[in-house]
Amino acid sequence: LHYTTSEAIEFIEENDVKFIRLAFCDIFGVQKNISIMPGELARAFREGISFDAAAFPGFASPDGSDLLLFPDPTTLSILPWRPSQGRVVRFYCDIRQPDGQPFPGDGRFLLRQAVRRARERDLTCKFGTECEFYLFQRDEAGYPTHIPHDRAGYCDIAPLDRAENVRRQVCLTLEEMDIQPERSHHEQGPGQNEIDFQYASPLAAADNLTTFKSVVKTVASLNGLFASFLPKPIPGQPGSGLHINISLFQGGRNIIETEKGVHSEISEQFIAGILRRAHELAAFLNPLTNSYARFGEFEAPRFVSWSHQNRSQLVRIPAAHGDFRRMELRAPDPTANPYLAFTLLIHAGLEGIADRLTLPPACNHDLFTAPADVLAQYELLPGTLHEALAHAQRSAFISSIIPEPLLSSYLAVKAREWETVSRASDCKAAEDDLYFA
Ligand code: GLN
Ligand code: MG
Ligand code: MG
Ligand code: MG
Repeated sequence: LHYTTSEAIEFIEENDVKFIRLAFCDIFGVQKNISIMPGELARAFREGISFDAAAFPGFASPDGSDLLLFPDPTTLSILPWRPSQGRVVRFYCDIRQPDGQPFPGDGRFLLRQAVRRARERDLTCKFGTECEFYLFQRDEAGYPTHIPHDRAGYCDIAPLDRAENVRRQVCLTLEEMDIQPERSHHEQGPGQNEIDFQYASPLAAADNLTTFKSVVKTVASLNGLFASFLPKPIPGQPGSGLHINISLFQGGRNIIETEKGVHSEISEQFIAGILRRAHELAAFLNPLTNSYARFGEFEAPRFVSWSHQNRSQLVRIPAAHGDFRRMELRAPDPTANPYLAFTLLIHAGLEGIADRLTLPPACNHDLFTAPADVLAQYELLPGTLHEALAHAQRSAFISSIIPEPLLSSYLAVKAREWETVSRASDCKAAEDDLYFA
């Protein structure tokens, strides 16, 4: 269902819509919105709706002017949890400058450009994410506690699993929003869950992930629970990952695996390009101080390596057929800004192709249990946000793709978070102050 501008206006008029949410993401991928009344929509499509850009780090222009939100009609979606009379509709927006030019720091714009660059090379990427999250109880005042919603584990069933109705409601809500859920299960940790939905073009996949996170948060809330996407909410328990699956198509054909066990040269170069940038990407794929507590245990990677089956690796190429052939990147976590993450991954892959990189041999060891002499052959991922920021800071690759002032603002805010947490007498409490919301 891809509406044009006039179809979107018609839809609003015919479906008892009372409020229209103009959604966009800040530079960290956190969703924001401004609500307009239906009578304003035509003007929004034509002239945009202004907002105070100075209120968002990395968004302020040198002359301090406002930025404008232009709703993307193809993203029209009813918010099913809002009233069915006097409905609420949401659009994702493109951000433009007052002169009408795209705002270069808009994540959707950056991602569109990356997609265009890939298309120039006759390459189509599809992205599918697998997002894990924890459900926690709330206290009497409604604030989140650290008490998990249940004590169930991987694929457990009710009554041990207390989240079946939450997952059900999330899946049904996604369907109503035209996002096709595919599978859902209780994950390994107490209160931990995963719901996967269909892969899509990079931009739709980033929008859908943003929608998914707001649906999970909302449905949890409606059930008196708190959903956390923190990468490692409970020390000693499994972390929450955001596996990013990428499939590559050329001339309509999936080229990750051309026949059993054989990858196209281009797809190997693409994967090698991502592996080459693993350190520089970390600050964007794993943006919190807490992100680094997840690595190296419970199936979260720690080394720069790839393999066909082994889940201890950074990249896995799962056994799958036809259009499901893909590479799975296992490092990212749900706090990554998907627009920036996907943008950087596409460019890293394209550079790998341009530079004709060779994919190193597959690593067929379990890196959680391998002896030291095996581990010594592989590079470690950054061990802290501090280390990741240093890699990003001196990366010509990153600065060629993420424009200023977005990049400096992003790194500065992250550096402050690192300072705050690393100087605190109780690091966990400091992280919760920053992130547990
Ligand atoms: N929770 C693990 C992670 O942090 C992934 C576990 C799994 O999905 N098999 O990435
Ligand atoms: Mg999964
Ligand atoms: Mg999982
Ligand atoms: Mg996975």
